[in-house]
Amino acid sequence: MLASLNDPFQQISPSAHDIPTMHFEPLGKEVKALMVWPRFPPSFWGFEGVLEMVPEKSVMPPLGLITVAALCPSSWVIRLLDLSFEELREEDLLWADLVMVSSMQAQRIDTLDVLSRARRLGRRTFIGGPWASSEPEFLTTQADHVFVGEAEEVFGDIAHQLEQGSAQAIYKVADKPDMSVSPIPRFDLLHMNKYTSMSVQFSRGCPFQCEFCDIITIYGRRPRAKPPEKLIAELDALLALGWRNEVFIVDDNFIGNHKLALQLTHSLAAWQDRSKRVISFYTEASIDLADKPELLASMVEANFMYVFLGIETPSAEALKGSSKFQNLRGDLVTQVSKIRESGLWVLAGFIVGFDSDDETIFERQLQFIDKTAITWAMAGVLQAPPTTALFDRMKREGRLIEDSTATTNFSAPNFKTVLPLPVLLRGLSTLLTGLYTPANYFGRAMRSLESWKPRPAQRPPELPLLYNLRVFVQSIWQQGVCSNYRLAYWRFLLTAIRRWALQPAKMWLAFMVLLSANHFLKYARAVAEDLEAQCQVLEDLELSSQTLAVVTES
Ligand code: SF4
Repeated sequence: MLASLNDPFQQISPSAHDIPTMHFEPLGKEVKALMVWPRFPPSFWGFEGVLEMVPEKSVMPPLGLITVAALCPSSWVIRLLDLSFEELREEDLLWADLVMVSSMQAQRIDTLDVLSRARRLGRRTFIGGPWASSEPEFLTTQADHVFVGEAEEVFGDIAHQLEQGSAQAIYKVADKPDMSVSPIPRFDLLHMNKYTSMSVQFSRGCPFQCEFCDIITIYGRRPRAKPPEKLIAELDALLALGWRNEVFIVDDNFIGNHKLALQLTHSLAAWQDRSKRVISFYTEASIDLADKPELLASMVEANFMYVFLGIETPSAEALKGSSKFQNLRGDLVTQVSKIRESGLWVLAGFIVGFDSDDETIFERQLQFIDKTAITWAMAGVLQAPPTTALFDRMKREGRLIEDSTATTNFSAPNFKTVLPLPVLLRGLSTLLTGLYTPANYFGRAMRSLESWKPRPAQRPPELPLLYNLRVFVQSIWQQGVCSNYRLAYWRFLLTAIRRWALQPAKMWLAFMVLLSANHFLKYARAVAEDLEAQCQVLEDLELSSQTLAVVTES
């Protein structure tokens, strides 16, 4: 339900935020809308090193934009550009009456470029998505219309206002829509063959209260979900368009409402039987999944192959300090094993830089990740995104760095850390270097695959033989011949074939892990070097300020 029936949008008071009252020309009924998905910089989950070897160009489509596209009036003409593999040409911008951008913080550089190019050419601009929801005031200086919140229940009215010339500069929708009104995304706008995976969303929101998390401030703590038949209609749409590969269920916590997740997975298992199991799933979940055997079994039946867990840290003190209480209810190592033995391979995220962390945290993280054999382990520094409880606390404590431009977990945090910054950055550099030596990466991979127990219901995607051959040849050339880890590559590949040649699920995952080495080993090294360089700059600054102090004193 909306905040008010008469005035569905809470317009931020212009005087309060220095937003000039704008009058916008009507765009008319037949709006030509250019939807633009800005480029991401290389990232841990961007798998750039894998994309070098496969025909696809990106790992995930812009689900938010194609959902909004489905909310647009049928009289609008819509084009979509994904800048990860398409160019934004001047004629594209000139074609459009309205340039619509969705963006995450990580895309900010390219987003600002798109908006300024569009504005220079006199195009009307509209921005929504997670970044707009967390920093709307700043974005009102960059775009004509800024949308904060979730669009499903209001975008029809906004579209009407854009057509009529009564649109506002900023829309702030506080209420969370019922997800049963969410339309089937316009998958038909995508160049599907450019993506390694498709995305759908089942639920939004998470019941937990991790201090650093903006999911709960943006989407709320009461998880809302689509009815199973709605999600299945989306999957049928993907099948009808010819999709036969992985689908990422992008929920921030798929089991936020585990009863609804269980209902869905039961329906998905039946759907898989009807549709010959040509699609496999992966998702994100909280670690209490380990304590829900029925849900785990049902996810396996529904052909989920792997799951991302936000483990963050083995330090109980840090988990307590950041209110991540759900990670304190069991032994984390046992929980990871339980999930893997139940049939879901585990990947996870880790964080350093909590207030209680000391110099030992890096080695403890390394030991923990090694012990759990989590192969794809993303370790980064804690950040305090706007709107989070951590952001507010840092502000209260006078530790917030207001002008920080940090957008990743590999740059200095946007607050003053307890651990000296060079210690934190160098520690993370050492941690990443240790995690991603070829021996450690392939060692964890082998142990995790051995302990992963896929069930007969789990079928990996069956890709065309020619596709597989092409990727295999690329992999052999780039990794098996040209790379500096070729010995570890061949050892892993030959062992995998010897052990699992007759087990398609294991062989499929082993090959994914093998390909991904080309990303993780290179990316971790690049980040580690960059962190070292950041430390060097900090130390040089420290040295020069000390020198200055000595000169001034003398
Ligand atoms: S479990 Fe994940 S999504 Fe939920 S509050 Fe914590 S970090 Fe956010």
